[in-house]
Amino acid sequence: MSMKGQTALVTGGSRGIGRAICLELARNGANVAINYAGSAAAAEAAAAACRALGVEAFPIQADVADPAACAAMVKEAAAKLGRLDILVCNAGITRDNLALLLKDEDFDAVLDTNLKGAFYCMKAAYRTMMKQKYGRIVAMSSVVGLRGNAGQANYAASKAGLIGMCKSLAKELAGRNVTVNLVAPGFIDTDMTAALPEAARTALLGTIPMARLGRPEDVAKAVAFFAGPDAGYITGQVLCVDGGMAV
Ligand code: NAP
Repeated sequence: MSMKGQTALVTGGSRGIGRAICLELARNGANVAINYAGSAAAAEAAAAACRALGVEAFPIQADVADPAACAAMVKEAAAKLGRLDILVCNAGITRDNLALLLKDEDFDAVLDTNLKGAFYCMKAAYRTMMKQKYGRIVAMSSVVGLRGNAGQANYAASKAGLIGMCKSLAKELAGRNVTVNLVAPGFIDTDMTAALPEAARTALLGTIPMARLGRPEDVAKAVAFFAGPDAGYITGQVLCVDGGMAV
């Protein structure tokens, strides 16, 4: 699949799944703007790895929970890249606790970053893609958004919310040749899951029919499919990349 000359903005591209997405898009020929919140060095390293694949790539700092920062980031990325074909809303955080103990600020932080952050970026890219009459938006949901998970009421709400939001935007933008899809990973080997206690990791592994964690690259392949030219007649869909967890 060739994305040669296409342009992409990936939020949370400095580490984990987002980094793998940037590299996969670059491998397919796309130029990439790599968003990060605080990891400047990691974002620059990801950009260097993309450039080594022969494309243009640069880091771009913005806290996606800040609407003004998202608007400025999308504007800057589109200006530097020349146009914006692909937006991947991948940035996400967890603040896990049982609902009984969950602090309001932890509920809000997760919704602000995972759900509202994606909305701010999509809203900022909306007009540009509409005018271009071309766009590929991909959001990072989670199996937890489909099935729920004890201790993750805030995270599950944010990931389920993304699905309803993206289906709505898919309907708004379909007539303009802009698709909006979601990937729902299961249990992927990144910093996010490395932070889980050993007992929780063992219990989670037991829920995966394939009996192994996923790799960031497994998720990146699915994102690249939705982001590419071959998925032009697919919109409003959720693709699980989870070793069978959600079956
Ligand atoms: P990760 O390793 O913790 O990386 C998170 C990325 O998001 C980093 O690049 C981080 O940037 C960025 N980020 C966090 N808050 C941000 C903010 N406010 N503004 C901009 N960027 C921000 O996470 P991951 O495991 O790769 O997860 C990536 C996405 O996949 C998330 O949406 C997550 O919910 C989803 N997901 C992950 C799994 C899994 O098992 N790992 C499963 C299902 C869904 P900095 O480096 O600057 O902090």
